[in-house]
Amino acid sequence: MVQTARNAFGFSIGNPWREPGTAMITTAYREDGTAVDVYEAESGGGDGLICECGVPVVAKKGAERDWHFAPRAGLKSCRIAIDGQMRRFLENAALDFRIELPPKDNRRGIVDAIVVESVVRAGLVVLLLYDQADRKLLVVVEVKKSGAREMRELIGRSTLSAIFVSLVCHRTKPDEELRNAFCRSAPRDWWRWKPELLTPLHPKIGENGMLLPPLTEEALIEKIFRTAQR
Ligand SMILES: [Zn+2]
Repeated sequence: MVQTARNAFGFSIGNPWREPGTAMITTAYREDGTAVDVYEAESGGGDGLICECGVPVVAKKGAERDWHFAPRAGLKSCRIAIDGQMRRFLENAALDFRIELPPKDNRRGIVDAIVVESVVRAGLVVLLLYDQADRKLLVVVEVKKSGAREMRELIGRSTLSAIFVSLVCHRTKPDEELRNAFCRSAPRDWWRWKPELLTPLHPKIGENGMLLPPLTEEALIEKIFRTAQR
């Protein structure tokens, strides 16, 4: 009776060889703002739920496809809702679990994350976080193969530390595995690195020269977060 589920990103949970399909809406809202999971919702539009973007949704709980919400207007899905699902899941994962940093000089580090901002663009979810010691770190999470190179070039012009985590092979996994992949097991790299992030370690400093004019931290944050959220 119960359908195979979707994970918090909205993808049908499946084996990694299957095409992941499209992420669908799994959370809608009552008028008062409380969130309702599709599994709790009444099939159809009887609950009067709305999408994160404000339009009415219906709960699709048929036998054919994994349950999800769809906008009433006849659209299949909603970008605002899907982006929101992905951002919130990763924000919560970052807050609840310590994110492992990629090794540097054979050492590993851990971040106690305090998320400041997050944004979705071109298949990437970018989180700006502070750790407990007030050090800033950008975490660029790849959900779909797409705009990583452009983002890397942009970040390369700045002085902000950044890591890249690829969830492309994990995006159809159940929530717990997805969370573990994000915080621990998924492939990750340093894109930019300021050694003080790994204090009390004392790694070598030796960044190569930059071809493009440098961006201040503020300018980079403005470019990634403020402009994308309009
Ligand atoms: Zn919507």
